[in-house]
Amino acid sequence: MSDIADATTPAQRDARSAAGDAGDVKANRAEDGTARRSGQQVSPRKRRHSFVRWTRLGVQLVFLLLSPQAFSTAFSAARSIMVSLGKGEAIEMTGFTITLVALLVHTIVFGRFFCGYACAFGTLGDVLFQLGDAIRRKLRLRSLRVPDKVEDVLRLLKYLVLAALLAGSFLGAGSIISSASPWTAFGHLTSLSLGSMGIAGGIILLVLMVPMLLKERVFCEFLCPLGALFSLMPIIPRSNRHRNPHDLAGSAGCKRACPVRIYPPGEGRWMGECIQCDRCECVARPGCVTLGPALQRAEEALRHQGFACEARAACASGSQRPAAPRPSSYLFWHDYRTLRVAALALVLLGLLWLGGTLNYLPASPLVS
Ligand code: SF4
Ligand code: SF4
Repeated sequence: MSDIADATTPAQRDARSAAGDAGDVKANRAEDGTARRSGQQVSPRKRRHSFVRWTRLGVQLVFLLLSPQAFSTAFSAARSIMVSLGKGEAIEMTGFTITLVALLVHTIVFGRFFCGYACAFGTLGDVLFQLGDAIRRKLRLRSLRVPDKVEDVLRLLKYLVLAALLAGSFLGAGSIISSASPWTAFGHLTSLSLGSMGIAGGIILLVLMVPMLLKERVFCEFLCPLGALFSLMPIIPRSNRHRNPHDLAGSAGCKRACPVRIYPPGEGRWMGECIQCDRCECVARPGCVTLGPALQRAEEALRHQGFACEARAACASGSQRPAAPRPSSYLFWHDYRTLRVAALALVLLGLLWLGGTLNYLPASPLVS
């Protein structure tokens, strides 16, 4: 079967993509340099980039001033739920729990905009990375590049951190976790109450700041338990960012610009990793990176077009007509969103079962 989308081998596509990356970056630099020297207007792409950058910075600053502890409030709620479950007590609907539920619902509906625009700890990571970048440029040092395969493995660490912290809270180690939390220490830092900062939390925070200077969003990508929780949420398709797979040159530089080193993932396996920072959209050619499932549909249309050409050729030659391909989104093992919905449903059923077993929720006919 001819398949337009797979007309080249993966190695050829990678090579073309890499060539596109390098060419695009060089072209952008040349374009900006020429524009600056000749006093011409900068390109619309560059203007959009700075607009998004400054808007994001402004929103981050507002959240840093008004709500510097939203992330730790949300994660404290997750921990206190596990503490209550561990003690067999009812889950209280406190402000903490409401913050967590609101952030999870927001993530399902809009994606991880909280991480890209509102989280104070993410902002700390951005500030430290920019500082490290300035020092590196001064010393003419190269920035840290982690190989793709290593990065893919390291991303799984945050799920282990999440599981360990929730299990520790369930087993009654909640107060130890809280006293050693770098987030609690950061909270004391933002409220200028350094005297109440725990020594363990302060030391862990200082240690974490070192890699933050070297790699952008390193804590978010590899270690953040709240980020792990967000990335497990089934984000609705209209809030997923897609890259046009047929426009390799147009999307050149997307992955290089991405703070968590993913291409705009659409409904692919890294969709939960996207922190919705908008940077890829600024780097790619207009229309190449978009929110929503439109590009996936376009890709499927192209696949069908390839099928139609092949079927016409088979009719003309009198040979057997090939079987029609199924669109990839109908194959459930290609649809990570469906898998996440199923996983989420299983977790909810598990919690209901646990609640019923510990006698603080009414027995449910679904899980009894
Ligand atoms: S991944 Fe964690 S630390 Fe990073 S922005 Fe999201 S909530 Fe904040
Ligand atoms: S895929 Fe795009 S929007 Fe998502 S984190 Fe990467 S650069 Fe930001």
